[in-house]
Amino acid sequence: MTRAVEESTYDVVVLGAGPVGENVADRVRAAGLSAAIVESELIGGECSYWACMPSKALLRPVLARSDARKVAGLRESVYGPLDAMEVFRHRDTVVGHWKDDGQVDWLDSIGVRVFRGHGRLAGPRRVAVAGPEGDEHVLTARHAVVVSTGSRAVLPEVPGLTGARPWTSREATSSDRVPARLIVVGGGVVGVEMATAWQALGAKVTLLVRGGGLLPRMEPFVGERVAEALTARGADVRTGARVTAVVRDGGTGPVTVVLEGGDHVEGDEVLFATGRAPRTEDLGLETVGLAPGSWLDVDDSLRVTGSDWLYAVGDVNHRALLTHQGKYQARIAGAAIAARAQGGDPPADARWSAHTATADHAAVPQVVFCDPEAAAVGLTLAEAERAGHRVRAVDVDMRQVAGAGLYAQGYRGQARMVVDLDREVVLGVSFVGPGIGELLHSATVAVVGEVPIARLWHAVPSYPTLSEAWLRLLEAYRG
Ligand SMILES: Cc1cc2nc3c(=O)[nH]c(=O)nc-3n(C[C@H](O)[C@H](O)[C@H](O)COP(=O)(O)OP(=O)(O)OC[C@H]3O[C@@H](n4cnc5c(N)ncnc54)[C@H](O)[C@@H]3O)c2cc1C
Repeated sequence: MTRAVEESTYDVVVLGAGPVGENVADRVRAAGLSAAIVESELIGGECSYWACMPSKALLRPVLARSDARKVAGLRESVYGPLDAMEVFRHRDTVVGHWKDDGQVDWLDSIGVRVFRGHGRLAGPRRVAVAGPEGDEHVLTARHAVVVSTGSRAVLPEVPGLTGARPWTSREATSSDRVPARLIVVGGGVVGVEMATAWQALGAKVTLLVRGGGLLPRMEPFVGERVAEALTARGADVRTGARVTAVVRDGGTGPVTVVLEGGDHVEGDEVLFATGRAPRTEDLGLETVGLAPGSWLDVDDSLRVTGSDWLYAVGDVNHRALLTHQGKYQARIAGAAIAARAQGGDPPADARWSAHTATADHAAVPQVVFCDPEAAAVGLTLAEAERAGHRVRAVDVDMRQVAGAGLYAQGYRGQARMVVDLDREVVLGVSFVGPGIGELLHSATVAVVGEVPIARLWHAVPSYPTLSEAWLRLLEAYRG
């Protein structure tokens, strides 16, 4: 017996209930619009269950132990290995044991209707949902459909890879077993963070990086310092390492990664952290004239180019694959949808209006929770020069900062500020060093606020904190 397809209409239909989709639904509800959200896996998305939250739960004890080992009087108490099983238990609690009841309750409480199942566009303003019990719904949106289906890990086309059962970020964040030897392929954020976590949890890590260094989107000194630290802790970091084949004995034994030039590395597991692809391949994009599998181009109100009802928010638009930036976009998209629903167009001219995702271009902050931490916002020196700015970079060795020596004995770190010489404002700031992630927001405020250097001089950092890095940077700039 075929079931009837249920049809319903909402002001806004959100496709994908990750952190970004949830926030769009929240914002449009707060503006008085009705909203439905469609989710095929767990409400809370990749971030809550297989990305930000579990990775940071794995890394927090690693960084806390490392810091403690640099403090006299405390060091002696923290020499033992990490208790991996306790770390996993804590991680499991942080991810709610991969259950989303709390998130569902919250969406219920704000009046967002949840539809479980795989959603696909079915022509303009329509979303068809194939539910888990064979149930089908067609949702029509009066004002907007928002695609926030996120991204997934990409595996490169390497002979033998699929049969070798590689880890992706999902296994690397959810495993409750420490492999004796872990090969990590990829020197970006996920590769570096997971190499840091698993090395500290007891795996012997080999990190294979195709290019010349780690964290290539940050200032070169950042990746150099992180690579030095990983190596000092026993990881084997190899740059210029191109994987040509992967072999797993009988599908279950050790895994061998073959490198260009014939060298090879053997491990018990191999993690491929080699990039992300948009989750748009089975989304019905072809029914609205878009190419399946593509990232979705948007304007600064997050509306898909050429459409007046379709929005793409979060990872899926490829502007900045970060939860905080996606949630920022969600606030902007929510405001823009609400403004348009009320018949107006959001003010297009105001660069910093609440309807314009300006920060995506000017200042995307990112902290990498490796050891030492890395953090950056705005432009690197090379990016600023490429963009045609007349700039000067000033560097400070964190050993000149009194608070650093107190934070950790033998503190090693560096800060860089890139200054636009024509306007005397900060275009970008980068830090590497223990505990440095918490400094980043001060840099974001300086960059977004376009605070003149002369005015920053009067923003006095407390003594003796890591924030005195600002004082040293300003002194270095003023000479
Ligand atoms: C290991 C790792 C660590 C990370 N750490 C951080 C961090 O510390 N800080 C940070 O800011 N960012 C971090 N990120 C990035 C962050 O996870 C993403 O930027 C964020 O999850 C994007 O949110 P989103 O809502 O756009 O997509 P997602 O979180 O991917 O959510 C999309 C949702 O859509 C659902 N969906 C997809 N297709 C359909 C469909 N057809 N029908 C119905 N539902 C669908 C999915 O099931 C999913 O629940 C990390 C990423 C990784 C991989």
